[in-house]
Amino acid sequence: MLGWSINLFRIFGIQLALHASFLLLLAYFGYRGWEEAGWLGAGWRVLLIILFFVCVVLHELGHSLTAMRYGVRVPRILLMPIGGMAEFDRLPRQPSAELLITAAGPAVNFVIAAVLTPIVWRTFWSEQGFAAYSVMDLLIKLTLANLVMGIFNLLPVFPMDGGRILRALLAIKLSYLRATYWASLTGKILSATLAGIAAFYYENYLLAVLFGFIYFAGNAEYRQLVIREQQAAYWAEWMRRSAAEEAKPVTPIDEPPLPPQIFHGRN
Ligand SMILES: [Zn+2]
Repeated sequence: MLGWSINLFRIFGIQLALHASFLLLLAYFGYRGWEEAGWLGAGWRVLLIILFFVCVVLHELGHSLTAMRYGVRVPRILLMPIGGMAEFDRLPRQPSAELLITAAGPAVNFVIAAVLTPIVWRTFWSEQGFAAYSVMDLLIKLTLANLVMGIFNLLPVFPMDGGRILRALLAIKLSYLRATYWASLTGKILSATLAGIAAFYYENYLLAVLFGFIYFAGNAEYRQLVIREQQAAYWAEWMRRSAAEEAKPVTPIDEPPLPPQIFHGRN
């Protein structure tokens, strides 16, 4: 499914790509706008979605450019209807690096909101209000969207930004794997609770599905890490045994070396 993407252009050497389903999102909002106010409504809504996703790209660039300072390669930023995803070739394990890389994304949203707030402030609170489908309407919605994006991403729901910040903070005291375990467990409990509240209390099924998606993504990332750690332990043990074999003085009747084992115990 992730393969259905359209390459747009490169920015700071990073390929910006659009998932094909994004076009359905534009078509849907264009149609909704057209139903409300004809072509003006359609154009306005499509512009709003495009500007909204420009902010998503800036958020991802916040993560990416900070990561690149730590020597991480960022081949692509993929935009999907549920948001953006910067693809890193690896994640630095130092808590300070993960903290800065992660915090840089929401920080960009708060900076955009801070820049827009003085422009929209008076109109937003004025009694006359503002015309629908106007530039001011657009700017007010973008300000609110950036505030929501910044706050939503900081929820401690692994693997969202807030969950990664929690993992980095835990990793100061715990091993990387244990820190990931606790961060993903916290994330799973929170995302399941929030999915339940969204579905049964607010009847917002789209949000419920999004939290469901986050639940499984967090779980998958933790499991992947467990497998990687097991492989690393396997090779470390294999190297240790081969080194021990070489160091052993040759005796006439030598025992055959034991096969390398994968550790199945909980880390
Ligand atoms: Zn982010």
